[in-house]
Amino acid sequence: MEENIRIGISACLLGERVRYDGGHKLDEFLKDALGPSVDWIPVCPEVECGLPVPREAMHLFGPSKTPRLVTIGQGIDHTDRMLQWTKNKLSELAAMDLAGFVFKSRSPSCGLRGVPRYTASGRSGRKGRGLFANAFIQYVPAVPVEDDERLHDPRFIEKFKERVCAHERQRENETR
Ligand code: SF4
Repeated sequence: MEENIRIGISACLLGERVRYDGGHKLDEFLKDALGPSVDWIPVCPEVECGLPVPREAMHLFGPSKTPRLVTIGQGIDHTDRMLQWTKNKLSELAAMDLAGFVFKSRSPSCGLRGVPRYTASGRSGRKGRGLFANAFIQYVPAVPVEDDERLHDPRFIEKFKERVCAHERQRENETR
């Protein structure tokens, strides 16, 4: 019997109530579209690094290359906490041989692209990437990644499936 493939996913997309406001972003379409042969590995960087639910919402703040993860109202900087947790989590995830990762779009932790970034003078014209998503891509660059928003486009979901299958085939060949 063939084993299921493992795909990481932002936990709120699986319906876990981990968002800053105590809610979730369950995406039934994604679960159905990627099929029953997937074992989902949920990850919520903000909760797993020790932040509570509910919590103050955060955004990216500062320079585009080294943005900080800062709460919107009180300006509390959680960057070091997040990066420290990420360092340990990434080696754990790498050992699980993930075939892909689906990130929650626009999140300052999980967003892959187009995450709003702010500076002292207001919203920057440039867009950023969430801290965890950015670190994941650098740590395991071969693992296919996509975000929930793009996966609702039939072109992108088919491409993502192809990339996941190709990555899995290559991994199996390497371990034979
Ligand atoms: S987007 Fe990421 S950090 Fe935010 S609630 Fe979802 S899993 Fe957690």
